[in-house]
Amino acid sequence: MATGPPFHGSAPQRTMNDLMIRGARRWGHAGSSDLHLRDGVVAAVGPGLSAAPGAELIEAAGCLVLPGLVDAHAHVDKTLWGTAWHPHQAGPLLRDKIDNERRVLAQLGLSPARQSARLVRHMLARGTTHCRTHVDVGPDIGLKHFHGVLAMREAHRGWIDLQLVAFPQTGVMVAPGTLDLLEQAVREGAEVLGGLDPMGIDHDPKGQLDALFAIAGRHGCELDIHLHDPGALGAATFEMIAERTKALGLKGKVAVSHAFCLGQVEPARLEQLVALLLDNDIAIMSHAPSGPTLFPPLRLLAERGVRLFTGSDGVRDTWSPLNNGDMLERAYLIAYRSGFRDDPGLELALRMATFGGAQVMGLEGYGLEVGCMADLLLVEAETAAEAVCFHPARLWVLKGGKVVARGGRCLLPEA
Ligand SMILES: [Zn+2]
Repeated sequence: MATGPPFHGSAPQRTMNDLMIRGARRWGHAGSSDLHLRDGVVAAVGPGLSAAPGAELIEAAGCLVLPGLVDAHAHVDKTLWGTAWHPHQAGPLLRDKIDNERRVLAQLGLSPARQSARLVRHMLARGTTHCRTHVDVGPDIGLKHFHGVLAMREAHRGWIDLQLVAFPQTGVMVAPGTLDLLEQAVREGAEVLGGLDPMGIDHDPKGQLDALFAIAGRHGCELDIHLHDPGALGAATFEMIAERTKALGLKGKVAVSHAFCLGQVEPARLEQLVALLLDNDIAIMSHAPSGPTLFPPLRLLAERGVRLFTGSDGVRDTWSPLNNGDMLERAYLIAYRSGFRDDPGLELALRMATFGGAQVMGLEGYGLEVGCMADLLLVEAETAAEAVCFHPARLWVLKGGKVVARGGRCLLPEA
């Protein structure tokens, strides 16, 4: 049984460099084996490995080992996690939800640093070791949320890796001043630039996309654009995004989140859009939305070779109380809403919550092979498909070869 590291500060203790996991099954490999973790990487894998003196031991018979989960589309700055229950009250339209959020957050006056810390600790307890989070930037709040999340990221180094997207939640062209704030956030450490419904929110797709791609071109950052606009409107926006991706040489650096329109157009139109996605290596994020919304045909996209990833989206916030930051459960929801019952379908959903997100975040050494980062998750399950279906308790979560959560609890004290 693992004893886990004592807690003495803001990062996991590094006095012990060896950890041995005994008798676990690795996703994608037959049989069980030991995993020797040394200095933050998977140093050896095989049956009956001899443990170094003083190595921490985890007896993991009956467990499946997965790479740490990747939540590559979150909004940790505006969660209500840890506060009193907030009954949902926003209207049905996207604009209603944005306006309601601004009103409620202004009333509550919560600290983005504290709220985001609360949520990432919960995410870590559920096995998420890497997260791309969108962070609101806009003329009403300036860079307050962004600075809060930057501080939180610094305080959690070594526990969870975060990539920040400067995100214009209140629009770009309709909210003068936003472009300057977005560019400032990129200068101050945002790795990714966000966008939002260039047509539906801004009514100026050329204006928004030209401006965002110009910033990305100047700073060499990636783009991740929220696109809720439906059907033909969304499809036309995809063409504009692809055109600019090509013109600025940003192939492989652009993602489109939600992309509902891919599930709403005719088959022939879909094939045209898939060709554009492949030609420009544009990745698609879907979190399998609740309600009747049609969303991208994930198996078809995967079969065509489109890069896919997923995330929690907003967790217990003014947009919805339903998302909970659990990426194994998210894989289940993707499978459930997509009608996946076979193992390849269930594993596709899990790949979106692991390797797909890792690829989009540009993680090096992600996986379960010798030499990979020792960012791992142990659950009681026979196969990855079973883990998706039942999303069982997270027995151990390891980051850099150290236990950071055990039995569903993060080893960091409460934020
Ligand atoms: Zn989102």
